[in-house]
Amino acid sequence: MHKGFHRWKEQLLLLFFPHKCFLCGKVLSGSGWLCEHCTLPQTENLCLGCGKDRKNCICSRVSYDGAWAPLWYTAGARYGIHRFKYEGRTYYAAFLGELMAQGVQALWTEAFDCITYVPMSPKKQRARGYCQSELLAKEISRQLKIPVEKTLCHTAHSKSQMSQKGLESRIKNASCSFQRGEKDLQGLQILLVDDVLTTGATASYCAELLKAQGAVSVFVLTAATTRIKQHS
Ligand SMILES: [Zn+2]
Ligand SMILES: [Zn+2]
Repeated sequence: MHKGFHRWKEQLLLLFFPHKCFLCGKVLSGSGWLCEHCTLPQTENLCLGCGKDRKNCICSRVSYDGAWAPLWYTAGARYGIHRFKYEGRTYYAAFLGELMAQGVQALWTEAFDCITYVPMSPKKQRARGYCQSELLAKEISRQLKIPVEKTLCHTAHSKSQMSQKGLESRIKNASCSFQRGEKDLQGLQILLVDDVLTTGATASYCAELLKAQGAVSVFVLTAATTRIKQHS
């Protein structure tokens, strides 16, 4: 479509749905993502094996081969991701997807064959109208020129991972939430996308399923990662 038309459409959309600061929610005058008072809680010192703080590395208990996230899941980012997931602010996929794609280019030398994502329960997706991890995967695909494939399936019967307290119940819930797809992933290096990396239980289980379909390696890319408290 004509470039001028796009710009016009963008301006019109901004007029009716102004962008809000991703972190504090303040209405922005232009098309940016952050207000002048906010700074992104960018991750540093992450273990590239598990995607957690180096001091609290969980590499020994995860089944994926690497993980990274651009943001800490702290107050502001938590609020922004909440609005992205539950309040229809789908345009944040462009912002988060870009941060995520930049990390892949800067940190990993792997040549990924395809991008896939952690699916949502069909019931929830019908109610929400979109799947946030799919939107992120599509954005990253656009930036990195790697195709997106829906490979994993979500079973109809499971509880929300967010409602599960403790690692054990999250591992158990993950194993009844997802099932492998039909696609042959023989010999492929996969980039698995999700919104938040918490205990690593979901990502680990999904990595196992992808490997059962033939994948040789699975790297996890999320928008944010939680800081793990010691002794919890
Ligand atoms: Zn702000
Ligand atoms: Zn680690």
